[in-house]
Amino acid sequence: MSKRARRVAVLAHCHLNVNTKVVGLADYCGSRDEVVGPLLREGVGIVQLPCPEATFLGMKRWGMTREQLDGPAYRRHCREILRPVVDTLQALAADGCAIDAVIGVDGSPSCGVTRTCAGYVGGEIEALFAAGQTPVAREAAGPGIFMEELQALLGQAGLQVAFRAVDETGAGQDKEES
Ligand code: SF4
Repeated sequence: MSKRARRVAVLAHCHLNVNTKVVGLADYCGSRDEVVGPLLREGVGIVQLPCPEATFLGMKRWGMTREQLDGPAYRRHCREILRPVVDTLQALAADGCAIDAVIGVDGSPSCGVTRTCAGYVGGEIEALFAAGQTPVAREAAGPGIFMEELQALLGQAGLQVAFRAVDETGAGQDKEES
């Protein structure tokens, strides 16, 4: 008799691998235990999403806002790296597997579900500081670009999946999508 629970959760990459986060944002050592631990104990399979920012910009990137990333090339990149994942989820669903949730990272310009990061008008940072201005990023309502593209691809694939998120700045604070 099979031991498969036939349940999976889809996790933002950095829940399982903190090393892709922007320098200075890591608040755990390797995997986010409050997300991963309960899934392991409940026998839920874990599908790890790729990190869209690390694969697009690498590990020398600055923290960015949604406006800075929101161009056709980044959206195309997101869709391209998501397609194999959506293919896998479609195959699992067709095989009777329940997809419990996608768990993103609120506050991220890419992986936010209920809240993202907005701001910055562009230009030379040195010139802004010389003029006595400071570039400011702020949290804003709405999803990040990667999660927006994932929602669209899942919809096109006929998969209804709940989206949840953990707060980027408050480990363990689960947020249900409103
Ligand atoms: S929140 Fe998304 S883009 Fe940012 S490090 Fe995690 S997986 Fe990568």
